[in-house]
Amino acid sequence: MPDPSDGVAAGGDVEMPPSQPHDQLPTDAGTESERTNGWEPSIPTDVWRIHGRDYDLTSFVNDHPGGPHMIMMGKGTDCTILFETYHIINEPRKRLAKHDVTPDGQKPPVPERPSAFMADVRTMIREHFKDQPKGTHKSSWLRTLLIFVTWCLMVASFGYGLHFRSVPISFASGFFGYVVMVNLAHDGSHGAYSTKPKVNLIAHLIGAAPFVTGQYTWWMQHVVSHHQHTNEVGKDVDSHHFPFVRWHRNVPHEISGGRWCAGPHNMAWHILTYVASTLSMSVIHPIHFLWQPLAGKLCCGGVSENFKGGLETAITPRHYVGCCPPPKFDSAFEKVAGNFVLQGVATLTNFALLGNLFIWMVSFLCLFAPFIYWGVESPANPMDWVHATLLAFAPYAASSMSFMCITQISHIQEDTQHEAVLANADPYMKQAMTSMDYSERSYVVQFLTGGLNLQSIHHTVPVISCVHYTDLYPKFIAVCKKHNCEPAHSPTMCSALSKHLTYVFRLGRGDVMGVVDVTASEPPNKAKKGRKQRMNFARLFGDGSGDEEAATPIPSATSPMTPARPMTLPAAPASGAAPTQAV
Ligand SMILES: [Zn+2]
Repeated sequence: MPDPSDGVAAGGDVEMPPSQPHDQLPTDAGTESERTNGWEPSIPTDVWRIHGRDYDLTSFVNDHPGGPHMIMMGKGTDCTILFETYHIINEPRKRLAKHDVTPDGQKPPVPERPSAFMADVRTMIREHFKDQPKGTHKSSWLRTLLIFVTWCLMVASFGYGLHFRSVPISFASGFFGYVVMVNLAHDGSHGAYSTKPKVNLIAHLIGAAPFVTGQYTWWMQHVVSHHQHTNEVGKDVDSHHFPFVRWHRNVPHEISGGRWCAGPHNMAWHILTYVASTLSMSVIHPIHFLWQPLAGKLCCGGVSENFKGGLETAITPRHYVGCCPPPKFDSAFEKVAGNFVLQGVATLTNFALLGNLFIWMVSFLCLFAPFIYWGVESPANPMDWVHATLLAFAPYAASSMSFMCITQISHIQEDTQHEAVLANADPYMKQAMTSMDYSERSYVVQFLTGGLNLQSIHHTVPVISCVHYTDLYPKFIAVCKKHNCEPAHSPTMCSALSKHLTYVFRLGRGDVMGVVDVTASEPPNKAKKGRKQRMNFARLFGDGSGDEEAATPIPSATSPMTPARPMTLPAAPASGAAPTQAV
């Protein structure tokens, strides 16, 4: 069986950032206009842009070893990072040349390797798996058995909780559903579960439902937006998708309430997302980001304006807390969704499209099952409806709390949003440095988090299954040390969560703003060693008077005393997005 990492590629000898846009290729005007509903794309819709060159891989889509969906996700976009982080075991660079349609005179040199860091990571990965059977870098039979047992526990606890009206048992089913998702659907979504694309597709469908997420919407939010643009404001949906919470230092601080109210205000909205995110992801997201643009294209002659333009035209969100003025969502998710629909990714196969419809309906059914099963029995008794409501939301609350705890604490951290990290010119080093890792030796934590306790290695080589992260991690860190790009680290999940909540609190209070002078900041890794969690959570509730350390601005983050980066943001259109986060 061919390896999914054996796909498309380039060749040359110069290291460079992933892409330099060049002038638009001449294309057939009629076809282009029809496909894009009139919007003028910055990248031609018929090509894949990699390292600044355009490749027409249309004839290769059905032969792509990773499956047609995986390659189609990059069509009409700059997919350099997807290309370089997925082709780890085999590098199909030379085969890419014959698909090159870049106009003469506009061809930038193509690097022989993505970067020195990424080349060393690939060498390390190949060395690790070199004497093992082909496909070992995917998931294992033992992990599959554990997932199956957990899936059975999810079904059994949901049925038991529903039949015996037990909210705690229903709550447990949501936790089991989340464990299945991070081990099965997440690996499948990255083509990391199996060497067989269809197995990955089915693993993703089965593992995503019913309590965590949809499939296509997960690809949009997670694989395309979050993984390629981790912690980039305007492009990483996860950095700012819920506008009531300030999750990123480069999102303007617009929270009223002063020093005493703004921090708790931000925290309150943040905690709300811990309860409602997966309900939004599994039930609401497919409506707005899949069925709505799909219906527009199929029934109304095209998608609405907010879905057009591609991710590079996404509008940076404004942050509001309160009802007036109304919240304005970012548009990154919609732009990716528009590309999925206009490029035909969503309608690529009937199997996947019907599969998406099916798991969305299963999520709906599970949500309303308590009302159907119990609520209609004695409709005159209001407590029955309250009980049914608790039963309905308990699994989603559990999956949401688990999911948000695992994912948010890795990326929304002071060190992972440090300006020096965000400004790193090597996008692959950036993948490692925008993550905070913890419990790196624990296989139990690895299973319970689906390997996302080690997000740095996951983001750098997402096509490798999570079951290998613990074994690979010491070697990965050695490569990071060699290139001075060590990821942030915390001993345990609890300490990482504490740092994360502290940071969200400070973001709300306005203690952390965008940074202008990168050189004035201490590198995040050195800063954190000397700091040792000095800004603990309890201290934040004080005013800092008499506390010299708390009153001292943290070197890696700009305090209100430091001038913030001036940000001029266009008004964003309101859209119907809802709170989410990702891995
Ligand atoms: Zn991922």
